[in-house]
Amino acid sequence: MQFKEILGQQPILRHLAASVARNRVSHALLFTGPSGTGALPIAVAFAQYLNCPHRHDGESCGVCPSCLQMQQLTHPDVHFVFPVNTPKGSGSSEKPLSDHYLDRWRALFLRTGGYFDEPMWYSALEIDNKQGNISAFEADQILHKLSFKSFESEFKIVILWLPERMNLQAANKLLKIIEEPWDKTLFLFVTEAPDKLLSTLLSRTQSIQIPMLQPEEIARYLIATHHTPEQEAHKVSHLCQGDLLEAERLIDEQQHPANDYLELFIRLMRLSYEDRHMELLEWADTVATLGREEQKQMLENFIRLLRDSYMLTAGVHEIAFLFGREYDFCKKFAPFVNNRNIEALVAEMERALQQVAQNGNPRMIFPHFALSISKMIGRI
Ligand SMILES: [Zn+2]
Repeated sequence: MQFKEILGQQPILRHLAASVARNRVSHALLFTGPSGTGALPIAVAFAQYLNCPHRHDGESCGVCPSCLQMQQLTHPDVHFVFPVNTPKGSGSSEKPLSDHYLDRWRALFLRTGGYFDEPMWYSALEIDNKQGNISAFEADQILHKLSFKSFESEFKIVILWLPERMNLQAANKLLKIIEEPWDKTLFLFVTEAPDKLLSTLLSRTQSIQIPMLQPEEIARYLIATHHTPEQEAHKVSHLCQGDLLEAERLIDEQQHPANDYLELFIRLMRLSYEDRHMELLEWADTVATLGREEQKQMLENFIRLLRDSYMLTAGVHEIAFLFGREYDFCKKFAPFVNNRNIEALVAEMERALQQVAQNGNPRMIFPHFALSISKMIGRI
């Protein structure tokens, strides 16, 4: 991975390249930041830069044998360590090690360009509800690997993703080598939660804080890579607060909603406006068959859509958190939500929410709910 493949973060990349030029690379760096800032791909690109014999102008060459091995994450002197656990139903009693799952790790990294988070990794690892960890056994393996002479490159590098998943024993084993560094051996830690790290590890590493991305950078990326329409890309780039993964999740949710609450909202409002009582009761029947958690989520979504529609009515477009299909509908629906009915509508939704939460009977709650909403929407 070359620096030019990283989204944004130019000042950090320049700083890293300059530290190499000045021969001031710390033997233990701690890259800190949410996964969506690119902390992990930055560490990987830095490892490639360090070991490229032809680096120039602040960039690795991208074509030498070392760079080519790094592009595939198969460089013999660069070791990857990350939290692992035994996949579901594997029945294996072998202690899990990063090396056992390196193929999955490489596949996920290459597919996402290194922009992935812990849940995405566990899903690739198929351990779903289990958490991964970095064991003392893994720490022994790292020490063992580092005890060999490097194959051909300048540095032996360990890229350790999520040190917060190391147990105390593992951390203490690694601390020894960090305290008395071995020549030409570097540790690049990448953490999302520095507050969960041992203070001894924090004090022995040089921290590099990766800032959140700029909205323009994210918008440009969404337009170029996901072909997101411009207006939507700008909206999402502000909603995601500088986190690329959050931006991609918002786009994905919009395109493949897990539950189509918007569709239910649209239908409820249309039928209410047209005063179609029989169909409103059918709507209530459909909703009554959803699970209780889904009903709660649906009502919470309805309240959000109502409040945001009201903001559109009030002309406060920039603080309404709406885009895509939601924005398209709510823009048209907004004139029907106003000072006279907004509070009553929200109160009715909150009442239903409370009844659902208190295990009320949905076959009683929703017919009454749908007809009450209809009266308030009809009243304009
Ligand atoms: Zn190179």
